[in-house]
Amino acid sequence: MALRCLMVGAGLSGAVIGRALAEAGHNVIVVDARDHIAGNCHTERDAATDVMVHVYGPHIFHTDDEEVWSYVNRFETFLPFKNRVKTTSQGAVYSLPINLHTINQFFGKTLRPDEARAFLESKADLSIDDPQTFEEQALRFVGRDLYEAFFKGYTMKQWGCSPSELPASILKRLPVRFNYDDNYFFHKYQGMPENGYTAMVEKILDHDNIAVRLNTRVGRADMADYDHIFYSGPIDGWFDYELGHLGYRTLDFERFDYDGDYQGCAVMNYGDIDVPYTRITEHKHFSPWENRKKSVLYREYSRACTESDIPYYPIRQVAEKTLLAEYIKLAEQEKNITFVGRLGTYRYLDMDVTIREALDCARTWLAVQETGQKMPVFNISVL
Ligand code: FAD
Ligand code: UDP
Repeated sequence: MALRCLMVGAGLSGAVIGRALAEAGHNVIVVDARDHIAGNCHTERDAATDVMVHVYGPHIFHTDDEEVWSYVNRFETFLPFKNRVKTTSQGAVYSLPINLHTINQFFGKTLRPDEARAFLESKADLSIDDPQTFEEQALRFVGRDLYEAFFKGYTMKQWGCSPSELPASILKRLPVRFNYDDNYFFHKYQGMPENGYTAMVEKILDHDNIAVRLNTRVGRADMADYDHIFYSGPIDGWFDYELGHLGYRTLDFERFDYDGDYQGCAVMNYGDIDVPYTRITEHKHFSPWENRKKSVLYREYSRACTESDIPYYPIRQVAEKTLLAEYIKLAEQEKNITFVGRLGTYRYLDMDVTIREALDCARTWLAVQETGQKMPVFNISVL
């Protein structure tokens, strides 16, 4: 029997789950409070410069997941793109993630890979056995000089606190390499959608069983009309923040234009604490095949998220996790709803993980329709 399902949010989570249910013959309504689809991956062609702009910050697709890679390629052509990030620190430009070039340039040396490994080991704080904090992880693996040049100031700007208060897992996202590989990611597949992410999501949503309604905010009071709801909005928002707000960092993007090539790369980080922004992104370099002359750039500033801001990065410190556990208890009493995506589960999720989880969630729901079991409120472990 065809059921009527609501996707709250037209980002990747809502679109991918909605598509799977629509293909299985169910009726899907996708709503979004914003005036566009694609959520935070939204891309828009700028009228003045013709540059494809990543409206909510730079998005580079990278994955090892074969199914996810073939899924996105089914809807959009992905062109080769390697994220080669640079950072400006103390008046010089270096290559990131830390690699042999960074080490040799920073210390004025000509070390070979094994020598560089031994050299960095000599800089490391070996008294730290099992690094727990971001700072300990940095001091243990790259030493104080590189930590202070590249990570300390940037991280204080990004997270608004000392790296000694953040978990080591945040820094573990970045590799340290003893060769000249300056690819920011290490995944097998990387690329950029030829016509932007919004074009891809538009094709995912293009199905006879899917209706999309923009500029539509829904909440708990709208549940009754649907057999099941997949909610990719903020979990605390679903409960009208009755237990308080989960902490996020928000971003301010300060746009400026330039006639030509401003910085020669897509992403330039700024490690110094006295530069107020964390990075500058030059959007035309995300689509190098388009060869645009004019340029659109974003200076990116991070700050605490208030009620009227867009939540970007979940903070997930001890206090937030305690509050999250309380919201999970409330959520588990709800019926006919599954909390999904980066806001619904209050986790930082890359796009490929978002799609993987959305595909798995849709599969679980479709299987449950066959077996008559209860659909879980969370299809993954959230805490
Ligand atoms: P979202 O994209 O946030 O979509 C949720 C949607 O729900 C929103 O459009 C919102 O308007 C809507 N909504 C919320 N509440 C309601 C409501 N009550 N009613 C109606 N609509 C509602 N990933 C990568 O793989 N590579 C990258 O380079 C990368 N860069 C990133 C850079 C930044 C700055 C950030 C913050 C994230 C980045 N990501 C990146 C992660 C990527 O943005 C997420 O994986 C993806 O956006 C998650 O999709 P989603 O559908 O879960 O959430
Ligand atoms: N980071 C840093 N300096 C840099 C880049 C990253 O200190 O030049 C830190 C920062 O705390 C960031 C973390 O490393 O949150 C992980 O980096 P990543 O590039 O994954 O950050 P994100 O994509 O989450 O912004």
